[in-house]
Amino acid sequence: MPTRKERLAMSRTAMPTRPADERRNDFEEVALGFDAGAVVTEASRCLLCRRPPCVDECPVGVQIVDLIEHVAEGRFAEAAEIVAADNSLPSICGRVCPQERQCEGACVMGRKRDPIAIGAIERFVADYIPPAAPAAETTGHKVAIVGSGPAGLACAGDLARAGHDVTVFEALHELGGVLVYGIPEFRLPKSVVADEIGRLEAQGVAFETDVVIGASDSLDDLLVTHDAVFIGVGAGLPRFLNVPGEHLIGVFSANEFLTRLNLMKAYEPDSETPIIDIGGLPVAVFGGGNTAMDAARSAVRLGAGSVTVFYRRSDEELPARREEIEHAKEEGVVFELLTSPLELRGNDEGKLTSVVLQRMELGEPDESGRRSPVPLEGDTFETDVSLAIVAIGNAPNPLLTNASPDLEVGRRGTLVVDDGGATNKTGVYAGGDIVTGGATVILAMGAGRRAAAAINEYLVGA
Ligand SMILES: Cc1cc2nc3c(=O)[nH]c(=O)nc-3n(C[C@H](O)[C@H](O)[C@H](O)COP(=O)(O)OP(=O)(O)OC[C@H]3O[C@@H](n4cnc5c(N)ncnc54)[C@H](O)[C@@H]3O)c2cc1C
Repeated sequence: MPTRKERLAMSRTAMPTRPADERRNDFEEVALGFDAGAVVTEASRCLLCRRPPCVDECPVGVQIVDLIEHVAEGRFAEAAEIVAADNSLPSICGRVCPQERQCEGACVMGRKRDPIAIGAIERFVADYIPPAAPAAETTGHKVAIVGSGPAGLACAGDLARAGHDVTVFEALHELGGVLVYGIPEFRLPKSVVADEIGRLEAQGVAFETDVVIGASDSLDDLLVTHDAVFIGVGAGLPRFLNVPGEHLIGVFSANEFLTRLNLMKAYEPDSETPIIDIGGLPVAVFGGGNTAMDAARSAVRLGAGSVTVFYRRSDEELPARREEIEHAKEEGVVFELLTSPLELRGNDEGKLTSVVLQRMELGEPDESGRRSPVPLEGDTFETDVSLAIVAIGNAPNPLLTNASPDLEVGRRGTLVVDDGGATNKTGVYAGGDIVTGGATVILAMGAGRRAAAAINEYLVGA
């Protein structure tokens, strides 16, 4: 191992990525991952802190220092066991977690040089996780999971390991939730999600697709046939701008745009649900989160003439992962910061032609702690746009909660639960975006695991 002084002198190992000019033309994965040499070099930079702040900042408490120490020694299989003990979806989290705000943001090395590339190390190690097997003993208890996003998958995995008979019910025809219908292939290949689902199947988890709980079957129906239910239905209802012209042809919610691309393969020439041909035309994306970056970078790949992200705050407040922002810029996405749409305008055929925008400045911090955008009176401008994508957040879809009026629902339509994810209805638990509102993969996964522990206790005792 290098000495402390040598470690401090080492630079962070860069994640190899495909060149921007090449990747702008296809949907293949951008980040290529470390090889064994690179991962050992990067791990050997770690200062192996005795009281590591990175672990405190990991929402599921992965024993990062232990993991990195094993990687630095080339003991990848043991490192995989360490990560798998706390994170049931490491190949996914290694790719999409906002590490700069979690583990890497707290890294002590980051105070002196660049933080250790913990996400990239986790991604590498995930390939060494051994195949899964069904639990040795079964309990005879049946649990239904509603929704196959990270919350549902994590909950299902832990419950199957505990010997319960688990079935996941998914409304869509593909499994994985936002991991498949939202996050594009170039960030998270569908095969990675399919591998995780395959591991769950190997553990005995059953999956039923095209089942909308609250429509085809009710929550009470599930409680007749199952001993407990976990609700992980996410927050998939798009928010809109509420400005004139949002009805025009060529205005999409990011949800619809990304779902058509990811699930319905709208980029294929013979697609039955194509997106309008945007070849060479100007595209506007409203919003600054991961969804906005995914939409903008997808529009680049569809051959747009230009793609501009309009965001009402400044660069510092952009909520998307830093890596996605940098990748978007490399791929030619333009950022018009401190702007907010006032009106979408169209032609006689009802097709979008332009957007009128208001220039903003930053005022006092709001309840989120971020400085709030304030309009600069009279400072507006108009720009040509043929496709506009609204990516300003999602709310919980009220379908299931409306169909189960006895479930306690909070002010924003989210489910009210205790620390273990128990709702007010006996035997019914919930977690992920349906409880928190739109958040992150790892928070949803952590909630699914906490609920699994509570369900296990409810069914068989501690
Ligand atoms: C485009 C996009 C990009 C993102 N990028 C990132 C990122 O880079 N990093 C990150 O950490 N987070 C990211 N997020 C957020 C993250 O994906 C979510 O926080 C996370 O997926 C929430 O998990 P979940 O299991 O609660 O819900 P979801 O992933 O939304 O899964 C819920 C599932 O339930 C199903 N369902 C809904 N209603 C029913 C019903 N009535 N019956 C049966 N099934 C139902 C849905 O079809 C869906 O499959 C992104 C989100 C989006 C939209």
